[in-house]
Amino acid sequence: MLRDVVRSLAEAKIAPFAAAVDEEARFPQEALDALVANDLHAVHVPEEYGGAGADALATVIVIEEVARACVSSSLIPAVNKLGSLPVILSGSEDLKKKYLSPLAKGDAMFSYCLSEPEAGSDAAGMKTKAVRDGDHWILNGVKRWITNAGVSEYYTVMAVTDPTKRSKGISAFVVEKSDPGVSFGAPEKKLGIKGSPTREVYFDNVRIPADRMIGEEGTGFATAMATLDHTRITIAAQALGVAQGAFDYAKGYVQERKQFGRPIADFQGIQFMLADMAMKIEAARQLTYAAAAKSERGDSDLTFQGAAAKCFASDVAMEVTTDAVQLLGGYGYTRDYPVERMMRDAKITQIYEGTNQVQRIVMARNLP
Ligand SMILES: Cc1cc2nc3c(=O)[nH]c(=O)nc-3n(C[C@H](O)[C@H](O)[C@H](O)COP(=O)(O)OP(=O)(O)OC[C@H]3O[C@@H](n4cnc5c(N)ncnc54)[C@H](O)[C@@H]3O)c2cc1C
Repeated sequence: MLRDVVRSLAEAKIAPFAAAVDEEARFPQEALDALVANDLHAVHVPEEYGGAGADALATVIVIEEVARACVSSSLIPAVNKLGSLPVILSGSEDLKKKYLSPLAKGDAMFSYCLSEPEAGSDAAGMKTKAVRDGDHWILNGVKRWITNAGVSEYYTVMAVTDPTKRSKGISAFVVEKSDPGVSFGAPEKKLGIKGSPTREVYFDNVRIPADRMIGEEGTGFATAMATLDHTRITIAAQALGVAQGAFDYAKGYVQERKQFGRPIADFQGIQFMLADMAMKIEAARQLTYAAAAKSERGDSDLTFQGAAAKCFASDVAMEVTTDAVQLLGGYGYTRDYPVERMMRDAKITQIYEGTNQVQRIVMARNLP
């Protein structure tokens, strides 16, 4: 039922704007409005904080179905989970009440600030600092590649509180867009997900109350990594969605397109491509849903399974979207058809929330 509801909504209210959002590299406001109106913008927020209380699998299905129509728009529910999960996992009751309710209502979005210009795969090498000043902390530094920066009201920010301890000297904080000293860089000009704003976030002597720290001092990096264990599965969901979208489009196209006097779908060379695409998508789906169930239960092998799902599904998305372009021939290579956009959008799923090389490092360290 959930899938049907989200698919109908995405087809009616999100897909019609996907090409324009990409072409104009603009925020998918129509998608945000439709998701908020249907309470699908942050479904993971527990009911006690006014949310829909969706479990990890339901959240994955929402993201998958939105990504099937428009990957940029799927960053809305995905990043709302990424940004707020540190608060849900490790925040005080007061922080949860204060920040999750506006998120659930659709009054505010949440971003996640881990990466920096010089600290990507090696996130623990971050330089952003927080220094204690009485009952406040003062933040200084630069975060890079922050999804929905400037649009989100709230930011989970990882910062060094003890430079002698590397990852154990990092703490997490909630920073608000309106806190004095917070500003944003120009939007990055990207290959894909052009509708999702990606910007630098600058912290210039940002003074925030001490109770905005998420969890204990020195636990921020552990919280950031625990968050990714759960949210990498949402990237797998995006990958799955865009692969399904490209497959569905290509499957329809080959039945219409005629060459040599018959639909190209009659050729076995085409049929075998479609069979391989469908097989890979289904394998990615099973891995992703199984990982979502593990996320919900908090199983001990979640770290391996989440990384495996993200890595596998994103590689499948890149293969399937590339094959979809191939199936449309020259038409697939133009912006008159959606598969070109889908191929560009799929690429990011192999890069963010840890590149697929990093996923392999994570899997190797947590082998079953
Ligand atoms: C559109 C977009 C949105 C993003 N959104 C966010 C966000 O909201 N919040 C956030 O915090 N971050 C975000 N990121 C950052 C993203 O997670 C990083 O770009 C990613 O982790 C890679 O870091 P890097 O770009 O510095 O690459 P690098 O770490 O410099 O990596 C370069 C290459 O080296 C490889 N590599 C690095 N180390 C190793 C190793 N040990 N072994 C093998 N290969 C290695 C990488 O796999 C990659 O191929 C976003 C990025 C993009 C592009």
